[in-house]
Amino acid sequence: MLRKIAAFHQDEENHWVADLDCGHTQHTRHEPPFFPRPWVLNEDSRSTHIGTSLNCVRCDRQEMPEEFVAYRRTATFTSGSIPNGLRKHHSTKRGIWGVINILEGQLRYRIHEPYNCEVVLDQNTKGIILPEIEHAVEPLKSAEFYVEFWHNPSNPV
Ligand SMILES: [Zn+2]
Repeated sequence: MLRKIAAFHQDEENHWVADLDCGHTQHTRHEPPFFPRPWVLNEDSRSTHIGTSLNCVRCDRQEMPEEFVAYRRTATFTSGSIPNGLRKHHSTKRGIWGVINILEGQLRYRIHEPYNCEVVLDQNTKGIILPEIEHAVEPLKSAEFYVEFWHNPSNPV
């Protein structure tokens, strides 16, 4: 899926890397002849690429960025105490990932555009919440669960 470039940094070998707003990074090397990106070498032309989109395959695979850590969690909800907002389409902010942890029972987890998929979560199957992607949950059986929120500790949003 497409994610926006939030910033650039250089790796140990001085190659340019785009920091995407999902928390993933992507090399944007200038390597002629196969990857000619002379624009990346110049600060002004780099800055014109801030806010443009790159395809993020790691978001497609629903992989949490490695350096992310859990910084907050919700109360434990049951089928009776689940806030209505979680049953409707909602999403986390830019750069914030979530993990749905099931303590008991089952929860139906729907991820909307661009994924359009649905999975039944249980104690062995966690749900990954991607930043800014709409989703909803619906308790099945006697579900008991909580949600953790994860961010980049060196760049908290
Ligand atoms: Zn991503």
